[in-house]
Amino acid sequence: MPITLADSESELEWRKEVRQFINDNKGIFANASADEGGEGGLFGRMGAVKKWRDKVAEKGWVAPAWPTKYGGADLGVKEQFIMNEEFAESGVPSNVGGFGVMMIGPTLIEHGTEDQKEEHLGRILRGEVIWCQGYSEPGAGSDLASLQTRAVRDGDDYVLNGQKIWTTGAQYADWMYMLARTDPDAPKHRGITYLLVDMKSPGVTVRPLTTMANMQSFNEVFFEDVRVPVKNRVGDENRGWYVGTTTLDFERSSIGSAIGVRKTLDSLIRQAKSEKSPASFDQRRSLRHEFTDRLIDAEVAKMLSYRVISMQANGKIPNHESSMCKLFSSELNQKIALLSMHLFGMHGLVWNRASTGYVQAVSSTIAGGTSEIQKGIMATRGLGLPRG
Ligand SMILES: Cc1cc2nc3c(=O)[nH]c(=O)nc-3n(C[C@H](O)[C@H](O)[C@H](O)COP(=O)(O)OP(=O)(O)OC[C@H]3O[C@@H](n4cnc5c(N)ncnc54)[C@H](O)[C@@H]3O)c2cc1C
Repeated sequence: MPITLADSESELEWRKEVRQFINDNKGIFANASADEGGEGGLFGRMGAVKKWRDKVAEKGWVAPAWPTKYGGADLGVKEQFIMNEEFAESGVPSNVGGFGVMMIGPTLIEHGTEDQKEEHLGRILRGEVIWCQGYSEPGAGSDLASLQTRAVRDGDDYVLNGQKIWTTGAQYADWMYMLARTDPDAPKHRGITYLLVDMKSPGVTVRPLTTMANMQSFNEVFFEDVRVPVKNRVGDENRGWYVGTTTLDFERSSIGSAIGVRKTLDSLIRQAKSEKSPASFDQRRSLRHEFTDRLIDAEVAKMLSYRVISMQANGKIPNHESSMCKLFSSELNQKIALLSMHLFGMHGLVWNRASTGYVQAVSSTIAGGTSEIQKGIMATRGLGLPRG
């Protein structure tokens, strides 16, 4: 049954409930300082984002996709989608649970031992721990299965040596879920194990990397003889690739990003309409065409999201369709950052919100799988073209 753009009666009721919750609580952000959206805010540990997170938690909505047995809301695909859509429309933070709720929680629910679930799931829901993802290495990004970080069994521990890179938030993280090589002689996908590493373990060194936007959002992480108890292994030894790539049943339509893009455009249009601004339509009429193109793009991004969600609602697993969504919305992100620079003209050359946003947008077509990788998936799995 195809999903309709109109809500069913029960979906409309749900949408109203979500809207009511947002209206009752979004006042939290009314007096928040800009600083509160920063590092602490980002991870929901302090300030307005923390207060918002607590309200979402009270409602039982921190983990919309998790089963209620584990403290989740057990929402259907369409209900999660509506929630994300409403949160994005109102500009309040969605996914307040971060990597913990989105990635490691569902992995533990699927593959973890009862002790691992007991130890971690509650703390993730309560926002007591920050997780980071240790997958990429200097020689293993797109080709992740080439990773070299070694874990060697020694009694009840693995001894970890090697390096991860681009690890977002590692400088604030309490735990890392990661992949390490346990059998160097096996075919490369078959010698990898999935481990949970306490970031306070002796031998873990985190070195922040400064991006060209002058921010420290990701890091290098070094492991020197780090002892990881075997009880922190998720799934069987050498089966980590399959644990790490489990299809996680959470909402992946990128609707938040599609709506976020349109809201950014709305705000740029408001600036361009203000006559006093050097960035006004009066001064730069030619920009109208660029705005029109981007508004159409934003609608296309939304339709691509609807396509993914309609597949999920019908029990299908989106594949090259998710790649299309990712490719289109990340490239659109960059085009809008460029539009913002065009709008500000020479003022865009000064280090301000437009220029920082412009350099920051560069990474959107790399993070989470590069554009070339997405195009490869679309070519081979979508169009059935032979591998090059
Ligand atoms: C903002 C940001 C946050 C990130 N956060 C994390 C994180 O928290 N944890 C983590 O583990 N990683 C993280 N990453 C790393 C990210 O997953 C990798 O950067 C990404 O997978 C690409 O790998 P790479 O940088 O090694 O580039 P490479 O894989 O070396 O690619 C280099 C170039 O070659 C092209 N290329 C590679 N293979 C192919 C191919 N088969 N066909 C065509 N072209 C190809 C790529 O498209 C790219 O242009 C983050 C990256 C960014 C930018």
